Amino acid sequence: MTGLIEAVETGVYRFPTDQLEADGTFSWDTTTAVTVTLRAAEYSGLGWTYSSPAAAAVVRQHLAETVRGRPVDDVAGGYETMRRACRNIGTKGLVAQAISAVDIAWWDLRARVAGKSLATALGRCRDTVPVYGSGGFTTQDDEQLETQVTSWAEAGCRAVKIKIAESWGTKPDRDRARVRRLAELAPAGVALMVDANGGYDTAAATRMGSFLDEVGVVWFEEPVSSDDVDALRLLRRHLRCDVAAGEYVADLAETKALLEAVDCLQLDATRCGGFTGWLAAAELARTANLQVSAHCAPALHAFVGAAVPHLRHVEWFADHARLEPLLVDGAPAVRDGALHPSASRPGHGMSLAATAERHRCPTDG
Ligand SMILES: [Mg+2]
Repeated sequence: MTGLIEAVETGVYRFPTDQLEADGTFSWDTTTAVTVTLRAAEYSGLGWTYSSPAAAAVVRQHLAETVRGRPVDDVAGGYETMRRACRNIGTKGLVAQAISAVDIAWWDLRARVAGKSLATALGRCRDTVPVYGSGGFTTQDDEQLETQVTSWAEAGCRAVKIKIAESWGTKPDRDRARVRRLAELAPAGVALMVDANGGYDTAAATRMGSFLDEVGVVWFEEPVSSDDVDALRLLRRHLRCDVAAGEYVADLAETKALLEAVDCLQLDATRCGGFTGWLAAAELARTANLQVSAHCAPALHAFVGAAVPHLRHVEWFADHARLEPLLVDGAPAVRDGALHPSASRPGHGMSLAATAERHRCPTDG
């Protein structure tokens, strides 16, 4: 008898960025974390997603009732039940993010009730999880980029990534200059990566890809919109650098659609169905002989990333690296270019931090 889930609670936390940040196709000045806490007897499990406050409303209005009263052990059944409960409102996008937060909390709760670490519960196959430094926003000046790349090098990152395709790909000269600058700043042996966030059309992406190949960039993420699977496939065939995508994937059907179009599949557990969805999608990637790379949320991906042998790396995204220690106590730190998920503390060992309180939105109900 493992007990039943008795309570489902949500929280919304807004973390302002230091300045306006932008990639090729979007800008933001805040990151919103939506948390879910599941309770059973004296135990609690914590999950979260980076999303809209509306994800908390989805949890409260469409998921909580189906989750309460279910056995703590039944993560797989709960996942399916949540998806079925959302059939009529759609199971992708925002709803998938809400389901993800619940699923992550559920895995944490189950591990804590069992007295196991989450790394053990997920099936740990590695002790350290390599990360790459990620940021390089198009809004940064040269000095800010240098500071950031230096900090990644000091943390031991073996790969670093910046944003390109500024203003929907309309400033390719500045994109090239910033890539050249990155190549100068990165220490020898550190892999160079770029993310266009879907900002180029196919012709512009082809031209930029040729330049990236000349400079020795090894990773070209979302050169075109990841909705344009045919263009991704074409680019993958013509470029030497790896073409990557997958950060918006919500389920296995969307995962399957990308398998032939990328050299490395990106997956985000806070968007693709939590750890349950992430592991299933990672397994699907293996059928195409692809490695997976975890998108953002390093504190959470430390654990699930440790559970798959074909992980390439986890994205140590600047915004999340800054806010996760404010959101939770016990977030895994980066040392020697890797996360070291605890295998001794129950669950993921993280709990809401006192510092989160001042970022909490009073409107989350
Ligand atoms: Mg990206």
